[in-house]
Amino acid sequence: MPDCDVAIIGAGITGLASAYYIKKEKPGLRLSVIDRNSSYAQGNTAKSAAGYRDLFTSDINRKISGSSIAFYKHVQQDLHFDLGMHFNGYLFLMDRKRLDQDAVKTFISEGRAEIVPEDRIASIGYSTRVGKEEKELMQLSDIDGALLGYNCGIIEPDRICSFYEKELRTMGVEFHYNTEVRGLRFEPKSCLNYPGEPFLWQQKEMRKLDTSSGPFSAETTVVCADIWTTDLLNSAGIDSHVRGKKRQVFRISGQPAADLMSNPLRPGEQVMPFTIFPSHGIVMRPEPGSSSVWISVADDYNRPFTTEDDPKPEPEFYENSLFPVIRSYLPQFSSCKVSSMWAGHYSYNTRDKTHYVFRNENIIVATGSSGSGIMKADAIGRIVASLYSGRSHTTLFDHSTILTADLGVESRNVPPEHIVI
Ligand SMILES: Cc1cc2nc3c(=O)[nH]c(=O)nc-3n(C[C@H](O)[C@H](O)[C@H](O)COP(=O)(O)OP(=O)(O)OC[C@H]3O[C@@H](n4cnc5c(N)ncnc54)[C@H](O)[C@@H]3O)c2cc1C
Repeated sequence: MPDCDVAIIGAGITGLASAYYIKKEKPGLRLSVIDRNSSYAQGNTAKSAAGYRDLFTSDINRKISGSSIAFYKHVQQDLHFDLGMHFNGYLFLMDRKRLDQDAVKTFISEGRAEIVPEDRIASIGYSTRVGKEEKELMQLSDIDGALLGYNCGIIEPDRICSFYEKELRTMGVEFHYNTEVRGLRFEPKSCLNYPGEPFLWQQKEMRKLDTSSGPFSAETTVVCADIWTTDLLNSAGIDSHVRGKKRQVFRISGQPAADLMSNPLRPGEQVMPFTIFPSHGIVMRPEPGSSSVWISVADDYNRPFTTEDDPKPEPEFYENSLFPVIRSYLPQFSSCKVSSMWAGHYSYNTRDKTHYVFRNENIIVATGSSGSGIMKADAIGRIVASLYSGRSHTTLFDHSTILTADLGVESRNVPPEHIVI
């Protein structure tokens, strides 16, 4: 008799959403959520800038983000569970060439976004024309206007996790915190009691987790350990198909930040949109209720793929790489200060920048969120539950459906995503 029917490794947003939909569908199952941290949402979920958007170039990404956003909205508005969700929009500052892109025209024709003219952007404090010298030195673009996405904004991921965790506890799911899974190992389905099993020719399954609290057995194991999935699967000889990269957030405080914050562009909102600068993919996220904004970027070159337990932010990265660009568009930010900073990882699917959700024997894996794991987690949880139940189609919260295997490895059907932030 195994210790449980389903063990879920990882109490981040992906693990909790997955546990929620598996248990909801089959209330009789014995589910355990295992995490090495002392509580839920302490991994990359805690490090997130937690913006959400349904503006993606690939159809499948629009579906999984759009349906997850709709679910979070339902939790906040209908179930009255405050997720700190603001529909403050995403503002992509752009030069003329980018404004003329087909994707921009599509988003507008679909009613998902509008163009904000340059003079409106200038009125909220941006220098839309960059000096010739800075432009050449730092390869900066002018701001000729912006694309403002509607079904986009910011959310508090720990509150989404708190919602799922509370529901899971009510449904009788067990939580094993402070418990590290040290490895996954396949065992023979029928044991012969010979040393060295399982042999090549034996039928195998993953039954026992080697944990810091001793062995733990499960009929099915769901691995939702984000970048650490790679190490866990390695131990069992399975490829995770993802690689981690450090991502940093710098919290910037001061009056100019507070002034910019109080410029909403969406009706009924009090804070500025989540903003993407026209050059180098730098983003700025408002922190409601404070005079601070968060600045982050997904930099690539000379940033090695790594998997650290406690990645450290680099103050010099802000000073030398981010601040000179920010100052070109927001000169008033020269008087702002970095008031705190932190770092986490993106788990990159380096092929098409979209999750992998696949099954290998009795292991189910959900990873590779590529920087958009908060905004898609509810749909990913439903896809994991479909894989568990063997359903070929997954119905999402908004009643749209996707083929479960599309996000898998063998029959994967996902075009490369072009809007990765
Ligand atoms: C700086 C930054 C900015 C981001 N911005 C956004 C954004 O704006 N919007 C967005 O949607 N996404 C964003 N993301 C991505 C998002 O945060 C992640 O995709 C998401 O949090 C992944 O959730 P998860 O549950 O898969 O992973 P995690 O939250 O990392 O959870 C994995 C869990 O597994 C546990 N674990 C790992 N190994 C073991 C083990 N061996 N034994 C036991 N437990 C283990 C860990 O302790 C952890 O709790 C950002 C990420 C970063 C770092």
